[in-house]
Parts: sequence; C-alpha cells; structure tokens
Amino acid sequence: MFMSRTETLYAIISSMPELPDLEAVKAVLGPKIVGVKIGRVEVLQPLVIRQPGPDDFESILTDNTFREIDRRGKFLLLTLDSRHILAIHFMLTGRLQYCGVKENRKPKTCFILNMEDEKQVRYFDSKQMGKIYLLHKGQFSQIPGWNDMGPDAMSDEVTLTIFQQRMKRFTGQLKNVLVNDTFLTGIGNAYADEILFEAGVYPFWPCTSLSEEEVESLYHSMKSVLAEATEIVTDRMGEDISTEIRDFLKVHRRGGKTCPVCGSQISEVQANRRITSFCRNCQKA
Ligand SMILES: [Zn+2]
Repeated sequence: MFMSRTETLYAIISSMPELPDLEAVKAVLGPKIVGVKIGRVEVLQPLVIRQPGPDDFESILTDNTFREIDRRGKFLLLTLDSRHILAIHFMLTGRLQYCGVKENRKPKTCFILNMEDEKQVRYFDSKQMGKIYLLHKGQFSQIPGWNDMGPDAMSDEVTLTIFQQRMKRFTGQLKNVLVNDTFLTGIGNAYADEILFEAGVYPFWPCTSLSEEEVESLYHSMKSVLAEATEIVTDRMGEDISTEIRDFLKVHRRGGKTCPVCGSQISEVQANRRITSFCRNCQKA
C-alpha cells in the first residue's frame, strides 16, 4: 500500500490498537453494551464508513441491539440482533469512546450511537484512516484483505506446528513477517518489537535464517507476550476505552533508555516505514 509522506510520518509517530488493546476494549465494552438497544444514530463524518452508505448505516443500527462482541486480528466485531456485524478497523488514530451524553465530544467524532440507557458509543478518528463496515457475515469477503488474513495470533488453532508451517511460506525480515496480517493477525508494530525482544532475536533477520529452536522460542514468546499484555491492559483500562496503555512495554518506543535485561541502551531504527526498537546486546545480529 502506497503511503504519502504525511501518512508515513504519522504511521511512525502514532500507534495502532493491537490484539491486547482490542481484547481490553472487548472485555470492558462488552458487558456495557450487549443487550442494550441502540436508539438514534448520528453520522457526523461518513468518510470512515466504507460500507454501506451513511443512510443505510443509520437505519440498520437504529433500534437494533448488540448481541455479541468479538475480535479477529485488528478488527473489533460487534454482532447485532439483525445478524449484521459492525466491523471496526481502527488503523492508526481511530478510537471508541463510551460515555454519557453530556461528555465533550472529541475532535473528529465520526459517529455516535445513542444507547437506550442514556449512554453513548462514539467513534472518533483524527486522521479518518479507520475502516468501518456494517455487513452480514456472508458479505465479509467484500472487505479488502479479509479472505487473505491468517489465523488470529492468540487462537488455539495457532499451535507450534502451524506457526512453523506458516513461517516457511515467508522469506522477509522477522519484524515484517510478524506484522503481516497474512501470516497471523493481531500483531502490529509495538507487540512485534516486544515479542522479538522476549525471544532474543534480531528483528531484521530473514525469517528463513532461524533455527528450529529459535522459531519455537519466537512462538512461545508471541503467546506469552500477548497473553500478559492483554491481562495488564484489560486490568488498567477502566472506563476510558480510548486510552492507550503502553508504558509497561520493555523496548517498544524506549529508544535510548536502558534495556531491562542487560542494561545496554535500547536502539531505535526507522526502516520500512516504521520504527523498530530493540536491544543490540540481547538481540544480536
Ligand atoms: Zn538487553
């Protein structure tokens, strides 16, 4: 995907919600909205709504009720009584807000769902790069890239054997493979750095260069980093689901600071339109 210079710059300084962040939103928001009827729907910035058109978006959601909240990769999936699913890909700057009607609106609030319990679910997105769909499950193949997505990184389906098999299909650098949705979904720039640090492998190695032991270590690091982060973020999120909790990460965006394992200075490299943070001592080239 081609990115303009501004988008590239923005991609470097912003961060996309990843698997642990969305798991936390799911855990906090689910009990508050499942079973609560949606009243009036206000579409303020229709650009982010990819499908259907804004009028259909409003009419489908109005008087509908959320039945289930789920996640696949970096998509949050909210199933409704009508069997439509509201699929939200937040990209870099999209966030949800759950609040009372009187709460100040964030800039670039794109739509508001007025819930019958006097609460509101709002989506805001300063760059409006987010992608929102309201479709039946059978229509999901219309979402660009949906059918090409690999399994979710945390799903039980992703066993060590599956992980090894899938990795054999790729030849790129480890960091690029980890964030590639066709390999596994749910991992972005931040958690790829954390996983590689935990496994002690150099981010720019081609994935074909790993030994069997290193692939195994990478697999276990992926599972443990994501599980621990999900627990921490969910615990700390509270009511404010738009907040980003990243201060506990060990290397990501901590360039120049001290490595928590060996005490060396953490490196930060800008490559392939993203910043990669790692420890040159713990993750030797
Ligand atoms: Zn280190």
